Amino acid sequence: MQLRPRHLINSADIELWPAWLLRARRGADARALATADWVVRSRDGAYLATIAARGRIHPLPPLQSSRDAETWRALARDADAPHAPVRTLPMHGLERRLLELGLDAEEYAQRTGLMQIPEPSRLALAGFDRYRRPLWLGAGAGRAWNRMRAAAADDGIALDAISGYRSHAYQMGIFARKRARGLSVDDILAVNAAPGFSEHHSGDALDIGSDGEPPAEESFERTAAFRWLTDHAGDYGFQLSYPRDNPHGIVYEPWHWRWID
Ligand SMILES: [Zn+2]
Repeated sequence: MQLRPRHLINSADIELWPAWLLRARRGADARALATADWVVRSRDGAYLATIAARGRIHPLPPLQSSRDAETWRALARDADAPHAPVRTLPMHGLERRLLELGLDAEEYAQRTGLMQIPEPSRLALAGFDRYRRPLWLGAGAGRAWNRMRAAAADDGIALDAISGYRSHAYQMGIFARKRARGLSVDDILAVNAAPGFSEHHSGDALDIGSDGEPPAEESFERTAAFRWLTDHAGDYGFQLSYPRDNPHGIVYEPWHWRWID
């Protein structure tokens, strides 16, 4: 029997999700999902089709063209290849979309010293986060996270993942919703990195929490978990990205750690 897929596959236009990690959004899709290996989603999360054994495609409405189906099949074949290389995706219209939302990406990059971070073509399932959502990370970061988490547990410290990989589309959605609610670009950027500039796009960064602590609060710095990370995270390749008074003007984020290969 084939093992259930444990990767998230990205292309510029679509994502392939392991079907077992998703729930049908309409009753009519449930059977297609139950028998599928993969679900094809648009980058903003809409279900387009399922892919079952031998590349059998079951389109979910809205119907797509058969040209799309061949592209999806090819991605699913690559996804099943055990050591398929990880590429980064083109940045694809990001700057134009940011400009529409009132943000000049070039000016932002210069002002903050942050770089645009492309999305990887493949992410690995690194477990589940605090909210029981799949935790997607690059393969190396995922292994390092699980080793670090086990070592912390041996020392009596429970580390929680709050959030790992996030796509450009996801971050763009947050940004666009806040703009629509009337927040200014500067207000949003005080809390969120601009879409395309978050380390979470790389699959190598994650937000870490600990039991009973609210997520992503500065108070995390006073926990035993943070003290443990300060002493040991470096042994696993993780470092704090945004210490106090960092040169990027990003608020102090004791919860945000990046794995350096
Ligand atoms: Zn973060």
